[in-house]
Amino acid sequence: VDGSDCSFLVYLSEVGTGKESLSFMKRRMRRMAAQWASAARRLDDRLRSHWREQNRILVHVGFLTEESGDVFSPKVLKGGPLGEMVQWADILTALHVLGHNLKISFSLKELHGFLGVPPGRGSCPLTGPLPFDLIYTDYHGLQQMKQHMGLSLRKHKSVPHRVIDTFGTEPAYNHEEYAILHGYRTNWGYWNLHGQQYMTMFPHTPDNSFMGFVAEELNETEKQNIQRNKVNNMAVVYGKEASMWKGKEKFLAILHRYMEIHGTVYYETQRPPEVPAFVKNHGLLPQQELQQLLRKAKLFIGLGFPYEGPAPLEAIANGCIFLQPKFNPPHSSLNHDFFRGKPTSRKVSSQHPYAEQYIGRPHVITIDFNNSEEFEATIREIMRINVEPFLPYEYTCEGMLERVHAYIQNQDFCSPEAPFPPVNSSWLSSPFVLLPNSSILTWASNASSYTSWPPLSALRLLASLEGESCVEACQGAELICEPALYRFINIKEAFSALELQCDGVESQVNHLLPAFSAEHAECGLQQDPLLFSCAGSSAKYQRLCPCRDYRVGQVALCRDCL
Ligand code: UDP
Repeated sequence: VDGSDCSFLVYLSEVGTGKESLSFMKRRMRRMAAQWASAARRLDDRLRSHWREQNRILVHVGFLTEESGDVFSPKVLKGGPLGEMVQWADILTALHVLGHNLKISFSLKELHGFLGVPPGRGSCPLTGPLPFDLIYTDYHGLQQMKQHMGLSLRKHKSVPHRVIDTFGTEPAYNHEEYAILHGYRTNWGYWNLHGQQYMTMFPHTPDNSFMGFVAEELNETEKQNIQRNKVNNMAVVYGKEASMWKGKEKFLAILHRYMEIHGTVYYETQRPPEVPAFVKNHGLLPQQELQQLLRKAKLFIGLGFPYEGPAPLEAIANGCIFLQPKFNPPHSSLNHDFFRGKPTSRKVSSQHPYAEQYIGRPHVITIDFNNSEEFEATIREIMRINVEPFLPYEYTCEGMLERVHAYIQNQDFCSPEAPFPPVNSSWLSSPFVLLPNSSILTWASNASSYTSWPPLSALRLLASLEGESCVEACQGAELICEPALYRFINIKEAFSALELQCDGVESQVNHLLPAFSAEHAECGLQQDPLLFSCAGSSAKYQRLCPCRDYRVGQVALCRDCL
């Protein structure tokens, strides 16, 4: 992809024509083409020695099809959500840049064509092998494949799906029978996929794969220019739809005492009443012009909604400080309408937990906006400090290419699970090495001949505290939970290696297992591998957690994962 190679964009212009969402995606691809091209060259230099397969890939963007109602396209120019479009544009570009053979569909008709369903026979079950190695789609797309083509995921265990799922799906919600029996019912779950077949916008939960998107990366000269031209008292408000501004006058008035406030709120003819008169509203801007505005601004301020979008990363990459509200108690599907019905119980601690937890100060400041004194003091602090533009590696073009490349080469949810390494006592006596005064264990090298990705050498076994999830337990040890390694620790020997004495060992279907119940000195093993889950906790259990290391700036990959 570069200025002269437009064949991909020409191909795109022939599919799904006329939709505003596609025009947005194409504009983005054109704007970012040079960045992708230079990132591809850098990655290619690094991966020279690695063999890469060219895959036949179908991308079916279900939520933009007419058949799913496509509520997004008409709102592209009216302040509606754009994050999903940003992500799909970047996924398409990454797959193309990596050299795969792509087919893209934005309608059922195109989908039928690619899958070889004869005209008029849309509801007949597919027979014969699929003409694709991989299918990237979303929940709407999955539903369409099932409804219209009988592509039964149960029967076709080998359907190589990757489901783009912004907020993520936890295993307890994905497992159909378990979800129904244990109160994890939602509108979306029930697909019985492997948890890592769901791919999210941010690394929300390691139970899913982190797909992400990209933001523009600046070179040194651009960074210096930005810092030179920053306007110290200029703030931009995060919120392109008027409803996001409702009830926020109080803290905006405080901010206005110190700074000139800019907005990019969509309006038709009149200024939206929700936007205070002292705000300079530019109306919804094209992406490129928003970047220019962010380059001048010192502060990008969140209003609490939208959750977990791309814009804060763009602002931080352009040298802004992102100030956002803390949520106490955290928002989740249990207490907030937006998350209700989504297949996750994840607790969202602020408007943008990734910015809070993975970036943090000085680029990101997360505070209680109801505390006016703290708010005002923070504004004064922001005007005093200088920050440099910053973009985590995983959100650069090179980082995304590296990650998607690693997934395509290594993730395999179709072949029958490699057999569990034969457990024998001599093998077990040495593999576990107990580190002094901690319960972290290292699984030694004689187990590493068993193929797994991430490799077994990355495994660090750990017991959580009671009431703690494996997401938290691994994080506490500066590691990350790795569900693909659960199968290696779901054995009774893992308890003894952690010095947990079992009076009894039982296998059950419970997404918190393997775990130890101190009260009964009982050790529980997981009976259904589909329920291996990093998320989930109970005061009754100390969970067994397969943690692994990760690369700085690329949390999806362990050190030996490339
Ligand atoms: N955006 C834009 N013009 C604007 C405001 C935002 O093009 O005036 C873009 C922005 O560059 C970002 C995208 O909208 O890439 C999505 O932004 P947001 O974080 O608001 O997420 P959403 O809620 O739309 O998914």
